[in-house]
Amino acid sequence: MKTLYIRLLLLLLMFSSCSSEDRAARMNDRQRWFEQNGKIKVLSTIAMISNLVEEVGGDKIDSLTLIKGELDPHSYQLVKGDDEKLAFADLIFYNGLGLEHGPSLQKHLHNNTKALALGDAISTRHPKRILQYQGQLDPHIWMDVSLWMETVPFIVETLSKKDPENASTYYSNGEKLIAKMIETDGQVRNEMIQIPENMRYLVTTHDAFNYFARAYLATDAERQKGGWQKRFAAPEGLAPDSQLSAVNIQSIIDYLRKYDIHVLFPESNISKDSIRKILDAGREKGLHLHISKAYIYGDAMGRPGTEGDTYLKMMLYNAKTIRKTLMDKQE
Ligand SMILES: [Zn+2]
Repeated sequence: MKTLYIRLLLLLLMFSSCSSEDRAARMNDRQRWFEQNGKIKVLSTIAMISNLVEEVGGDKIDSLTLIKGELDPHSYQLVKGDDEKLAFADLIFYNGLGLEHGPSLQKHLHNNTKALALGDAISTRHPKRILQYQGQLDPHIWMDVSLWMETVPFIVETLSKKDPENASTYYSNGEKLIAKMIETDGQVRNEMIQIPENMRYLVTTHDAFNYFARAYLATDAERQKGGWQKRFAAPEGLAPDSQLSAVNIQSIIDYLRKYDIHVLFPESNISKDSIRKILDAGREKGLHLHISKAYIYGDAMGRPGTEGDTYLKMMLYNAKTIRKTLMDKQE
């Protein structure tokens, strides 16, 4: 018993020292970013953007993410210290397409000459690739690697304009990044192709995976002629909101029954409440359902040291997890 207590105490100490180290590391990142060292100070709203910005900018820039860890980017409101970051940044990259709709943040991004909405920029160049649902733009474009890749030229161009001396570095880093993204896009596709067509359906918490469904779950015919939408469903809408109506629940249950789906995937940064409600209601109606033990990444990248701590790792982790879980009947 005594040994158990000591082990527990050691574990607790380990966790508490980890979190204080994490805090210290974050504090150092923030302090370093505010140092006047001649480098361009780039602020990105979400980690999926700052990760690409860091690949392109390398050691020529200092990068910081505004919406940290597992916070929800849809509803993020400014906290103490954010004003200074937004004011100090030389450049700000954000997703746009309605993602960052918290009013206090929106106020700083809208009509800000040093801010670029990468999703809006893609939408201007490739309007047909942007999805809409009930009159609302779907902001989750990072879920299709081949589409997220289209942000790279905008990042290269913006950094080069701000810092023409290092333009050739940004350009060659951008090319290398695009090559890696093309490779990961293929790997994700290969993972999904291994799942038989009649099992290739995804149900998660909120509507973050429409681009993923179109790019990777659909058949070629569905992608070209329509019908790919049936490959994905979620009880919560384009922004997480666990207030589900009886109609929402029933429509997901009908969907699960129609396509013989048994697994619900939790997302790493969102409460499981809504999928638990679906699970309970579905089981009452005789469906065999379970919640996947492994979560997938939707609106937040993994913490440092996890399998999803870079954008490309996150996408590959999602694909492998979805493939393994859907094909493992015991899961
Ligand atoms: Zn979302």
